[in-house]
Amino acid sequence: PAGLLWLSRDLRLGDNPALLAAIADGPLLPVFLVDRMTRAQGAASRWRLARGLAAFDRALKERTGGRGLCILEGEAEEIFPPLMRRLDLGRLHQSDWPTAAMRSAQGRLRAALAAEGRSLILHPGHLLVHPRAVQSGTGGTYKVFTPFARAVERTGPESPAPDAPLRIVAFADPPAGIAPAALDLAPDMRRGRAALERFALPAGETAALARLDAFLDSAASYSENRDRPDIAATSNLSEHLALGEIGPRALWARARMHARLAPAQAAGIGKFLSEVIWREFAWHLLIAFPQMAEACWRPEWEAFPWRKDGPGLEGWKRASTGVALVDAGLREMWVTGRMHNRVRMVVASWLTKHLLTDWRAGLAHFADCLTDWDPAANAMNWQWVAGCGPDAAPYFRIFNPERQAEQFDPEGRYRRRWLAGFAGNPGPEAQAWHDSIPLSWTVPACWRPGPAAALSTGRAAALASLAAFRS
Ligand code: FAD
Repeated sequence: PAGLLWLSRDLRLGDNPALLAAIADGPLLPVFLVDRMTRAQGAASRWRLARGLAAFDRALKERTGGRGLCILEGEAEEIFPPLMRRLDLGRLHQSDWPTAAMRSAQGRLRAALAAEGRSLILHPGHLLVHPRAVQSGTGGTYKVFTPFARAVERTGPESPAPDAPLRIVAFADPPAGIAPAALDLAPDMRRGRAALERFALPAGETAALARLDAFLDSAASYSENRDRPDIAATSNLSEHLALGEIGPRALWARARMHARLAPAQAAGIGKFLSEVIWREFAWHLLIAFPQMAEACWRPEWEAFPWRKDGPGLEGWKRASTGVALVDAGLREMWVTGRMHNRVRMVVASWLTKHLLTDWRAGLAHFADCLTDWDPAANAMNWQWVAGCGPDAAPYFRIFNPERQAEQFDPEGRYRRRWLAGFAGNPGPEAQAWHDSIPLSWTVPACWRPGPAAALSTGRAAALASLAAFRS
């Protein structure tokens, strides 16, 4: 027998019920598939995924005495049925990752397995609470964050599962797969965008736990400084959470324990956990409305005459809008795969409001560039900024990037880091941006042009079209 596990966004040994269930079934055979879903991911998140797989492979080998991940290329319904037949296995375990694409892959696999009396068993671990455990008074998912957050706190997150055994017995005869070191998931990141390597944070579960602990020790200043892109005050855990290198339930339990032991950090930790509930909210919304990445939550917004492309969008993607905070953020994302949350909101507002461009164009660019790409968080936040999502910012909320910069980057440190010419000579970050822009982009406009839309007239025009649409 073997304990067959299909890994996706659960690259961890702790708080992983699917892994424990597979181990209970027999010697572990953990499989990762390079399938259509993987190939459809954006470049930066594929690049990050490869690093995560390599880290998980190393961690597994330490526990099994040398046998790691089995990485296969193909679709689940092609790979698993013959494998299970050959090994005479009745069950395949998987952590639930409830996206629309995964649901259809699971559907096709289930149909293929059912004919032979075999099954796919889904396990929790990706969320704090099961969506059915937090339902609004009228039934269904909450559409407003505050009552949702209260309901999650009231229900209490599920307890994390125990860590996997220190010694794991591995299946002795796995199919020949791709070695993690030979896995080339993101050749597009090698060409010109190698700066990501330089700014990369350590990948894997051990790094995630160390990052969480270091963050919790300094969480006292989180509430005050979390909106400041010029200060490193946030946890930077999002890429670990996106790949499941740490589970939200274990994160929650560890943070709560820390808050009890270190009361000085408790308020900051409470605020941090409320941000983690935003992640949860995004996933509950995506489960209720699987088309969230493609369609406006409020259907009437489909009729809004968004611009679909054009020089505004191109200039924005090339981080050359001429608006300092917007360009700084887009350059940070291109070079590091990360962007501060406050700046994400400003950048998204500039695209959807000042440039009146379809939020889906921005969502796709973020999905290509972010190492923490998360289908639920990305879609919910874009719809929130654009005004077409549940609990969204009202249409007249248009971020003023200069006011935001004065408030949250008062000395210009963040902008200076990314914008050569903003003041003095380019630093290493601004230089890295310059080195990494594609040849096809080498139009002079990339090095600090004038604004594509003037701040005040752009805002007035946006308000007028949005108000006309609403009336
Ligand atoms: P911290 O402040 O330390 O927060 C802790 C954790 O809470 C984060 O790691 C994240 O998991 C969660 N979180 C925090 N803010 C949010 C939020 N607004 N929505 C959902 N979860 C949140 N986050 C992603 O993980 N992936 C995305 O693809 C993504 N796309 C975004 C697109 C836009 C337009 C905007 C405005 C925000 C997006 N976010 C996304 C949310 C947020 O910007 C990042 O989660 C955050 O910047 C990550 O940094 P951190 O881990 O240091 O956050």
